[in-house]
Amino acid sequence: MTSAKTRVAILGGGSGGLELACALASRSTFDVTLVDRVGAHLWKPRLHEFAAGTVDTSLTEISFYMLAGMRGFRFEQGEVSAIDRATRHVVLKRFEDARQETVAPERSIPFDRCVVALGGITADFGTPGVKEHAYALDTRDDADAFRQTFVALMIGARETKRPARIVIIGSGATGTELAANLRQAEDSFFERDGHPEDRDRLLRITILEAAPEIMPGSETKLRARVLERLDALGIDVVTNAKVSEVEAGAVKTASGASYPSDATMWAAGLIGIPVLSRLADFAIDKKGRILVDDRLRSTVDPLIHVIGDAASLTPKGAERPLPPTAQVASQEAAYLAKALPKIVAGEEPAPFHYKNKGQLISFGNAGAVGVLGGRKKKEDFLIHGQFAMAAYNALERDHQWTVLGPLRGSVAILADMIMPTSGPALKLHG
Ligand SMILES: Cc1cc2nc3c(=O)[nH]c(=O)nc-3n(C[C@H](O)[C@H](O)[C@H](O)COP(=O)(O)OP(=O)(O)OC[C@H]3O[C@@H](n4cnc5c(N)ncnc54)[C@H](O)[C@@H]3O)c2cc1C
Repeated sequence: MTSAKTRVAILGGGSGGLELACALASRSTFDVTLVDRVGAHLWKPRLHEFAAGTVDTSLTEISFYMLAGMRGFRFEQGEVSAIDRATRHVVLKRFEDARQETVAPERSIPFDRCVVALGGITADFGTPGVKEHAYALDTRDDADAFRQTFVALMIGARETKRPARIVIIGSGATGTELAANLRQAEDSFFERDGHPEDRDRLLRITILEAAPEIMPGSETKLRARVLERLDALGIDVVTNAKVSEVEAGAVKTASGASYPSDATMWAAGLIGIPVLSRLADFAIDKKGRILVDDRLRSTVDPLIHVIGDAASLTPKGAERPLPPTAQVASQEAAYLAKALPKIVAGEEPAPFHYKNKGQLISFGNAGAVGVLGGRKKKEDFLIHGQFAMAAYNALERDHQWTVLGPLRGSVAILADMIMPTSGPALKLHG
């Protein structure tokens, strides 16, 4: 059956895909289907907090089924395996239940326009032992698995008086923010009459960075502030430490050093999810992301758009593609929400322009630091304290507002503002 409306299939309901689905579904000319392999949306920039247990996922997880009814799009749960460009169908794998029994055969979803927003994963660069012995922070399951291990280690450390040793590989935002949140979570395990020196006895955190400085690519001033904060939190940082192997109880570097580790988190580098290169005959960059033009159209098919971590867009005059951040994904979603109606009406929209609003790092209850972007690079300025924390939270507030609408968005924001600060340092369930 043909629809008078333009059928848009959005693949992936993360930072970019969900914002786009909500925005497009409000237009009467579009029939929007959102596909995701899981049934609820979790905002990925908070994964490190869920992994440390400093924020409960039940506060921030939103059912796609509920949102679909509320915002007027169709939701199809399933794992995307291919896009048939000739027949204009998205193919979903057969659906299996928790016992891995097939409950529905392979499905296909017809589309007039398709938007790929399937995100990225942490790259292990083929380093031996990473898959077997290190945790990643790509999904809620990853965060849950790490948190369970962390809690067990902390209880063990308190009872045996042998500190838990956590090694984090990669000193980017994910690694540094996770380290600070683990330090915050540690408070929940101190003896009631514990002394400050308990800190040394319970948890040792080491960040290993392959580059000569932490947070490669970030502003020098910001890096210095981050280092100061990490030092104040008693987190060891080792640079020029290129990891050569992860073992069950240790991390080895190319220089021959070995770091004992009870739990290792691999948080270095991001590539497009592997399925991107198998979806269709897309042109792919060296990080496995789909090449797009400045209207976010895949270079091989103008009816297929790509946004967020799955897209590789190098702005005119730039040396590198845009970074894999929620900030980029959100701006790309907002662009397509305005550009798609024009494209469908036969007009050529203006090209996409990314505005870098800055970079902010949160250390949990130890505050935040960041650089806010000015109109020109040299106008960027360093911020910290309450202002930085407010700016850090603003990205998520925008997301909640876009996804839930003004009324529910405000309620969610209020609940979020009250809950994490009023509760205990660690929330063990969720
Ligand atoms: C710990 C951490 C902290 C971060 N902090 C920040 C920050 O402070 N600021 C910032 O700007 N960015 C931050 N980021 C980066 C940010 O989270 C990502 O860049 C952003 O989420 C990318 O959005 P996306 O829509 O491209 O993909 P995602 O948000 O990753 O969403 C992808 C969606 O696709 C679904 N999916 C994947 N594969 C399939 C499949 N085969 N079939 C069906 N569905 C599928 C997933 O379930 C998911 O819902 C952080 C990331 C992490 C891990």
